[in-house]
Amino acid sequence: NDFEARFRIPHLTDVLHDAVSTPVSSDFAEGYPSDEEWHGYINNNDRVLLKVIHYSSPTSAGAECIDPGWFTVLGPRKIYFKPEDVKAAIVTCGGLCPGLNDVIRQIVITLEIYGVKKIVGIPFGYRGFSDSNLAEMPLSRKVVQNIHLSGGSLLGVSRGGPTVSDIVDSMEERGINMLFVLGGNGTHAGANAIHEECRKRRLKVAVVGVPKTIDNDILLMDKTFGFDTAVEEAQRAINSAYIEAHSAYHGIGIVKLMGRSSGFIAMQASLASGQIDICLIPEVPFNLHGPHGVLNHLKYLLERKGSAVVCVAEELGRLDLLEKTNATDASGNTVLGDIGVYIQQETKKFFKGTGFPADVKYIDPTYMIRACRANASDGFSALFLVKMLYLLIYTHMFWQVHGAFAGYSGITVGICNTHYVYFPIPEVIAQPKVVDPNSRMWHRCLTSTGQPDFI
Ligand code: ATP
Ligand code: MG
Repeated sequence: NDFEARFRIPHLTDVLHDAVSTPVSSDFAEGYPSDEEWHGYINNNDRVLLKVIHYSSPTSAGAECIDPGWFTVLGPRKIYFKPEDVKAAIVTCGGLCPGLNDVIRQIVITLEIYGVKKIVGIPFGYRGFSDSNLAEMPLSRKVVQNIHLSGGSLLGVSRGGPTVSDIVDSMEERGINMLFVLGGNGTHAGANAIHEECRKRRLKVAVVGVPKTIDNDILLMDKTFGFDTAVEEAQRAINSAYIEAHSAYHGIGIVKLMGRSSGFIAMQASLASGQIDICLIPEVPFNLHGPHGVLNHLKYLLERKGSAVVCVAEELGRLDLLEKTNATDASGNTVLGDIGVYIQQETKKFFKGTGFPADVKYIDPTYMIRACRANASDGFSALFLVKMLYLLIYTHMFWQVHGAFAGYSGITVGICNTHYVYFPIPEVIAQPKVVDPNSRMWHRCLTSTGQPDFI
């Protein structure tokens, strides 16, 4: 009918038809149009270039000047597995990030469109594979229809959990042959290990990651879902800090934002708000005390304009300022002392010592930001990642079975140069992406705050 003709995405129509009505085997099924016959399919030679700008020298590019790389475009490919043979599982690990529910919802809806009947959620991260008290959650469009209207994860999240071998044992027991793993660097390291283990056991299992990091700290990707929402919410916190500081006599507002080793949220929120006088990120060293330190500059700001607002990222780089605990969380990540609280206390002490009155207010909006519902932009990118993702899964299985495309094993999805592409997991989690102190963006931030070097 007209509606069908006008609104159904052509890719979906064709692939769905193939998926449902063509008897397929893991071998290339007869009756499939070849790439040449139907140009709606993405060809594996369709690629996106990592960098569009050619810098003539590392100085003009900053430290980010790396060799241009090519990435395979996401999109419809031929499918190789029968949807009725699929049991798909979704798991969310690590911390919360706006958009998790959007991704879960979209995975479920898309799998259903493909005719997959067995879709389950693994509760509370990898832990759900081993904890007998945690039953897997049957998922359907009905269950997930409205979950994107609230933040958090329908499935719950956790850190730590069973060994990779135990996870794969559990997947075999449950008959899971498709695993969607939503999480950050740790989760992806896990996903890659699960994938490797499945290959070792010669299981026809597809493991694919969806990068979840509010900090936008995944290498090679333009932006990850959750980041936009975080910046937007961070701006609200900054605005409150500004109002508090501005309305007080010699008011100082301090806002601590997420970013363990990457200051993207702090930098972008500072820039966007236009209300920050001092932005401190892990990538750029600073002194608190001393003639060129942050505290002296705060005093100067109070004298000159009566109030000041500071934005500080979590600062893994400044562990030297914090009490050494050597503590780690269940996943083995270093537990950070609270840099925001530290700066607040030092600021109070400093002004008390100088006899110069200052009214210091501290805001830590971390959990409010993480638990937010995704904004339109993040919801959109979550949706797109998944729309493209599931088509990959089928192909991916094929690749695994035949080992023909071994180079693509352990992949995740993301945006490169505004296009959605596949990334190899090990490369994107090799180290966190960080703000380049020589970049134009950081210099714009410095121009906007007017802050000097604190060294
Ligand atoms: P975020 O940093 O945003 O909170 P994350 O995915 O990095 O997200 P982690 O708590 O570090 O969060 O890890 C999530 C899960 O991945 C945990 O269950 C942890 O046990 C597992 N994991 C972490 N690193 C590895 C690894 N190298 N191999 C296998 N599993 C891992
Ligand atoms: Mg992490």
